[in-house]
Amino acid sequence: MMKYNYVIVGAGLAGVVIANKLANHNENKSILIVEKRNHIAGNCYDFVDENGIIIHKYGPHCFHTNKEKVWKYLSQFTEWLPYEHRVLAKIQNNFVPIPFNLTSVRQCFPLIADDLVNKLIAKCGNNNKIAILELINENDKQLKELADFIYENVFLGYTIKQWGMAPLELDKSVTSRIPVFISEDDRYFQDKYQAIPKYGYTKMIEKMLDKNNIEVLLDTDFFDIKDKLQYTDKLYFSGMIDEFYDYCYGQLPYRSLRFDFETLDKPCQSVVQVNYPNDYDYTRITEFIHFYKNKNYTKSVIAKEYPFQYDHSSKEPPYYPIPQKKNAELYKKYKSINNDIVFVGRLGRYSYYNMDQVVAECLSLFDTNSTI
Ligand code: FAD
Ligand code: UDP
Repeated sequence: MMKYNYVIVGAGLAGVVIANKLANHNENKSILIVEKRNHIAGNCYDFVDENGIIIHKYGPHCFHTNKEKVWKYLSQFTEWLPYEHRVLAKIQNNFVPIPFNLTSVRQCFPLIADDLVNKLIAKCGNNNKIAILELINENDKQLKELADFIYENVFLGYTIKQWGMAPLELDKSVTSRIPVFISEDDRYFQDKYQAIPKYGYTKMIEKMLDKNNIEVLLDTDFFDIKDKLQYTDKLYFSGMIDEFYDYCYGQLPYRSLRFDFETLDKPCQSVVQVNYPNDYDYTRITEFIHFYKNKNYTKSVIAKEYPFQYDHSSKEPPYYPIPQKKNAELYKKYKSINNDIVFVGRLGRYSYYNMDQVVAECLSLFDTNSTI
């Protein structure tokens, strides 16, 4: 029998924040993290390739938050380089800023742009944002045409590729992540803090784990060793909650991704991320060199993302819970099973969390009177 005070399943951001906090609070207690991949850091994992380029193995990760507490907490473990994410999408023959903003309006509608911009400002207010599924209900003929154009050219094709369904079949929260922006601000996020860890996410996470009482067991599926594992205090679980309960109420659906990496002799785009809502089978191309502007590279590496439905019997990980009412209800059923296990993170909570939300959730477990 392997005996620990605490067992944590998953060495992603959720598991690691918890391990770090437990280790700080209880120096004499033993903590084991069990991780089925051959590395720490979960989906934030990055590494330096043979050309010196930091590659995000599981898709582009941009840190952004308005949460002071999260920013301060992570800043103990890394220096940051300022990085503001800018995204272009290929719409007809233009590469336009996404979120679709006033510049995008001007690029796509050069002849009537002034009218559209004035109407958008009158409707929403300068510097405000509006979700596409709200704009689409517009009565004004010109604005309605604009909304239909954005819906069809920015959202429909991309969402069908990404989720296997149209925007209206998903919770509105999915497409409202990327609202139409009544501004020329072409940043993907407007958060107060936006940056990239100077030496990458994996290095930051290594530091969080640098405690004498944290042990990490890689290449090990929790379910393969659970009968040999004993914990005296608590189990934290950041894997799939439905798998934990052996799918007793049925399977929760997830979307997965395949990343196709290519090494190029020179850069192929001007920003980290270019979206292809209407062309090709992939949703976007990430070009990693643009994250770190302070370096000179002799090569470039890109990744194309191909989404598909997660299959519980396959080896590809589940990357996205699917935000839909019926899935939230099924999740609730699992969550209401009464026991002492703490489910955390994107899979444990079946929530479309960004990194800062995962960190905030896990830190809050250590607030007094936490009810998670
Ligand atoms: P994970 O990182 O998934 O970690 C869970 C870990 O548990 C995994 O390593 C898994 O192998 C392990 N595990 C699961 N089951 C078991 C088991 N049975 N036994 C052992 N180990 C197990 N967020 C942002 O803020 N900004 C971004 O730009 C951003 N971009 C993203 C792009 C993509 C393509 C994806 C998929 C996500 C992105 N995110 C982004 C979200 C971010 O990745 C997550 O919020 C964060 O990584 C979640 O951390 P986690 O610990 O909950 O989950
Ligand atoms: N989306 C879209 N077209 C785009 C960008 C986003 O339709 O060009 C929609 C799509 O449904 C996507 C969602 O908005 O899944 C959220 O986008 P985000 O960039 O936040 O996705 P993530 O980086 O989390 O995959």
